[in-house]
Amino acid sequence: MDLTLNPEHKAFADEVRAFAERHLSPATRAKTFSGKHYDRADHVEWQQALGRQGWLAYTWPKKYGGPGWDVTRRFLFENVLAEEGAPRIIPFGVKMVGPVIYTFGSDEQKERFLPGIRTSEVQWCQGYSEPGAGSDLANLRTRAVREGDHYIVNGQKTWTSFAHWADWIFCLVRTDPDAKPQEGISFLLIDMKTPGVTVRPIVMLDGAHHVNDVFFDNVKVPVANRIGKEGEGWTCAKFLLANERLGIAEVPASKRGVRSLRDIARAEPQDGRTLADDPAFAAKIADIDLQVQALEMSELRALSTMALGGAPGPEVSTLKIRGSEIQQRIAELAMEAVGEYAQPYQPGMLFQNTNETPVGPDHAPPAAPRYFNMRKTSIYGGSNEIQKNIVSKMVLGL
Ligand SMILES: Cc1cc2nc3c(=O)[nH]c(=O)nc-3n(C[C@H](O)[C@H](O)[C@H](O)COP(=O)(O)OP(=O)(O)OC[C@H]3O[C@@H](n4cnc5c(N)ncnc54)[C@H](O)[C@@H]3O)c2cc1C
Repeated sequence: MDLTLNPEHKAFADEVRAFAERHLSPATRAKTFSGKHYDRADHVEWQQALGRQGWLAYTWPKKYGGPGWDVTRRFLFENVLAEEGAPRIIPFGVKMVGPVIYTFGSDEQKERFLPGIRTSEVQWCQGYSEPGAGSDLANLRTRAVREGDHYIVNGQKTWTSFAHWADWIFCLVRTDPDAKPQEGISFLLIDMKTPGVTVRPIVMLDGAHHVNDVFFDNVKVPVANRIGKEGEGWTCAKFLLANERLGIAEVPASKRGVRSLRDIARAEPQDGRTLADDPAFAAKIADIDLQVQALEMSELRALSTMALGGAPGPEVSTLKIRGSEIQQRIAELAMEAVGEYAQPYQPGMLFQNTNETPVGPDHAPPAAPRYFNMRKTSIYGGSNEIQKNIVSKMVLGL
């Protein structure tokens, strides 16, 4: 693997940096570096700026309006934007349902749905999990009954990230309760404004509202909104999950996390020394830094296989496992670094601009909420236990 950048790639990285300097609002950038929560407008404004530039759908082939970048450009794009403090692109449209639509959808569906995803005019959420169907996704029970040219949908989805911000939801629904579990499932696109759709917030341990329950009560959905054939939704579901796991390692964000950990450790000197001068803590930072670099190399290996025409295989599960463990470790170390200042819960510092004086240094209030929030990384996108099952079976052949 040749990791040196040629002059064109260097010029490309400069172009991305200049774009972020021009289009990323200082307020959004400040939220990233101070660990504050974004609101919907922060994401939409940034994603629409990328969309206008033709860069939001950066992993899509040119044929469907993507920029047609090589793997190195994609890698540089993600890394430069993370360094610049850009919010992560919400994946449900551009990284999840978009590729499903251009791979399995009809020409009419591509024409109807892809432009709004590419420009971020339309926001999406993912309706896979249900109260009785998480790891065992094929057990899902949300029922769609065909009546003429519509389905009538009844059931419940749960843990639906950003459903309260979304215009549309893509759902796995059961169209045939008598078929084998995986064979009776279809993939439906549902307008969130349809009568009978209700969103109920789930507030997480850190006080943030990102996830929701979504209820369907006799929701009328045109058959024209089904992607692929009836009963073949599981094929779309698996294709989407492989893409989801590939992007979930969040290496650029972890690199930024290590830099910010170093900054925290260098702050607050006492008697002329900081935490960064403590050999034991410095060794912990060096250790996590090396783990991030090793993960980055593994991710690059997977990407270069894909660049040669390969598809993401079961080995992407290892990236998901290590990526989530690393994100959790960085959050743990940040909490350790701020020490007792992690104790007070200061929601005003996280959710809105406040003129309250924080207890402790400015970087302290997000540490504990982030630590708790990061528990999610080993659960979502398929829990780490499930990923280990996949690795043992499909990679190690056990
Ligand atoms: C913050 C967050 C956001 C999410 N966003 C979305 C979203 O937008 N859309 C969506 O559809 N879903 C979403 N999810 C749901 C997520 O995909 C599920 O939580 C996940 O698949 C686990 O399912 P479960 O919660 O039902 O746990 P369960 O499947 O009930 O698992 C419980 C525990 O048992 C373990 N376990 C289960 N089966 C096995 C097995 N065979 N071998 C070993 N261990 C096993 C699991 O690892 C876990 O530790 C989100 C979850 C979180 C936490």
